[in-house]
Amino acid sequence: MFRSVRSFLAFSYALVVLLIVTILGASIQLLVEDRLRDGVDAGLEARGDRIAAFITSDTDIEISEQVRTLLEGLALAGQDEDVTYLRLYSPTGLVLLDAPPLPIEEPSRGELRRVTRSALRTAPAEGGGQLRVLTRRVLYEDQLVAYLQVGRDLSALNRTVSQLRTALVAGGVLAAAIAGAVAYALAYQALKPFSRIVEDSRSIGADDLDRRLPPSYGVREVNRLAQSYNALLDRLRTAFDLQRRFVADASHELRTPLTTIRGNLEVLLLDPDLSAPTRDALRQVSGETARMSRLINNLLLLARADAGQARPPSQLVDLHALVLETVSQARSAKPPVGITLGQEDQAFVAGDADQLKQVLLNLLDNAVKYTPAGGWARVSVYREGAWAKLEVADNGVGIAPEDRERIFDRFYRGERVPTPRGTTGSGLGLSIATWVVRAHGGRIGVESTLGGGSVFTVWLPLAKPRDKVMGDE
Ligand code: ADP
Repeated sequence: MFRSVRSFLAFSYALVVLLIVTILGASIQLLVEDRLRDGVDAGLEARGDRIAAFITSDTDIEISEQVRTLLEGLALAGQDEDVTYLRLYSPTGLVLLDAPPLPIEEPSRGELRRVTRSALRTAPAEGGGQLRVLTRRVLYEDQLVAYLQVGRDLSALNRTVSQLRTALVAGGVLAAAIAGAVAYALAYQALKPFSRIVEDSRSIGADDLDRRLPPSYGVREVNRLAQSYNALLDRLRTAFDLQRRFVADASHELRTPLTTIRGNLEVLLLDPDLSAPTRDALRQVSGETARMSRLINNLLLLARADAGQARPPSQLVDLHALVLETVSQARSAKPPVGITLGQEDQAFVAGDADQLKQVLLNLLDNAVKYTPAGGWARVSVYREGAWAKLEVADNGVGIAPEDRERIFDRFYRGERVPTPRGTTGSGLGLSIATWVVRAHGGRIGVESTLGGGSVFTVWLPLAKPRDKVMGDE
């Protein structure tokens, strides 16, 4: 539900504060309401007592006269500022006096009779609002001579309570908002070192495993995290080194026997007395050995690139000559795809001829691999401004759009499109090509339509006159 610790903390704090304020506010409101009602009740009891004490007769007429006189006296003395309703009943339930008229329904005789001494209740007033009503017996010489009802309007009290409630709700919401904001700010402050550690660790890529996080972030917990992260990087570095060394050593060791095998196969194939099946078998072995050689060269190059040892030396490389050489080498394997030459501009770049040849071989190898028999692959070299452009095009199976970004990743193989002749690969060719091209200050890209072929383009900066001098040396 929450995307960040910050919002979770802010929400929790705000909720807790709101809960506390609600409980506290409800208690305060109940207490205040109770106190105010007690005050009203005491006032009503006092008034009832006072009126009852004033009655010294047992006839209805005299009683009404006495009460009227008392009320007038009270009004004159200014003791009647709060409107207090009054209604007087005879013991049989007849209304003797209603001054000012009590705006509630008259009680039945039975109800009056059930009043033992006095009873307080809250009743809805006719025309809206609420009244607090005291009903009591009036005795004279221990005889029940009348029933008395005094009532007070509760709207002032209710208004006070509702104002208090509004103030408490507003205060509660404000307190919750402040608590949420403070919690958010505090959480932001507390989590800042974590954000820094995330930023720092993000900047450590696979290429610079020697870098480490700073040892101190000012917070103990974060420092511990940084130490663990650094220890993990140490272990990763060791594992990576071991793996790289293994790949480099293994590739290196495999290269020599493979060269011998290939050399011997070439010699064997020169024999004119070979039967056709033997020649075919030997050709197949030769083709597979060549593929294995390329794979091993790729692995060795990658291992060296990872070790940072494969910076291209600055020789002057004739790209046109390189293209001719690569095309003739690829043709000698008698592929089922026609390899042609397109544009043939003269272009010199500064770099490593072996590595650049590897790029061309990888691209051409793919063009042949992913083109059905009878198709074509075309290699061109252009000069364009300060750039040399190598292009390897084919009319093969093409590349699915979702694969186009990823085919340059190490070990990624597009398996959505079936390969003609069921050829397999390692997923390394294009990542090697990318690495070599970048190391030469260039870039590589592809345009492709599914089923309509692909065009791989490599841009390399043309050699400057200074490079030529260095190359000549
Ligand atoms: P591999 O060819 O060994 O699988 P690469 O790194 O050379 O590895 O190529 C990665 C993927 O890119 C291939 O698996 C294939 O799907 C796709 N690809 C490369 N070149 C072409 C091409 N010329 N035509 C179609 N697909 C290609």
